[in-house]
Amino acid sequence: MSALAAGARTLGVELSAGQLAQFDQFQAALLDWNARVNLTSITSAPEVEVKHFLDSLTAAVPVLARLRAGEAPRAIDVGTGGGFPGIPLKIAFPRLKLTLLEATGKKARFLRAVVEMLQLSDVEVKAARAEDLARLPGHRDEYGLATARALGSLATVVELCAPFLEPGGLLVAQRRGDLEAELRRAAPAFSALKVWARAPVPIQVPGLADGRGLIVGEKHGPTPSRYPRRSGMARKDPISA
Ligand code: SAH
Repeated sequence: MSALAAGARTLGVELSAGQLAQFDQFQAALLDWNARVNLTSITSAPEVEVKHFLDSLTAAVPVLARLRAGEAPRAIDVGTGGGFPGIPLKIAFPRLKLTLLEATGKKARFLRAVVEMLQLSDVEVKAARAEDLARLPGHRDEYGLATARALGSLATVVELCAPFLEPGGLLVAQRRGDLEAELRRAAPAFSALKVWARAPVPIQVPGLADGRGLIVGEKHGPTPSRYPRRSGMARKDPISA
């Protein structure tokens, strides 16, 4: 895990030997389960270390000062798949109170096994669709942080994530490519979901130099009751002008 340790350091995240051992265990479980459950197309250990683990940690950049100061926001990782970025964030910042949300039951079973194996506390795995969980008290308007990686277009991400945030809560979406253009296209979704977009955060870390960046938004009011729309709509018919 030396590439991860070095890369994390450039982000300002110091990982202990114990945390690096947890990443090792997570990697072994991911590659083992991947033979049976389709969790990732990345199957070489060095690539998992950089493209999954280090890449996941970059999602912490906008909240790093708060996390370092010992804040423990309630966070939800929407469409977490094999646990990205949620599980690496939890390993690096053990105080996070984390909900891992994943629609596919088999992936959720993997996540539960990892949580147990790594003895992670304050982690809840939900096998559900965002459209349904975001209607439930205890989840709607309740989180300080919502993350998403590879969940869909930015407008889809905003509709599926923002309903979980409390006013003042932050959406962090890991993206690639022309982030300004993405923001312009998704502007109607930001407005409908009452999220103010901040300036995109370019991410520069060794081994991840392919135009990655973060879209960060702050929720400024409660989510209108019509959002998220019924299951599948956010993806099929993203909010547009
Ligand atoms: N975030 C992970 C997985 C990305 S693939 C990563 O970056 O590696 C997208 C995942 O989101 C899939 O596992 C899919 O099952 C899940 N997903 C898609 N739509 C969803 C929804 N509406 N609610 C919950 N999970 C969803």
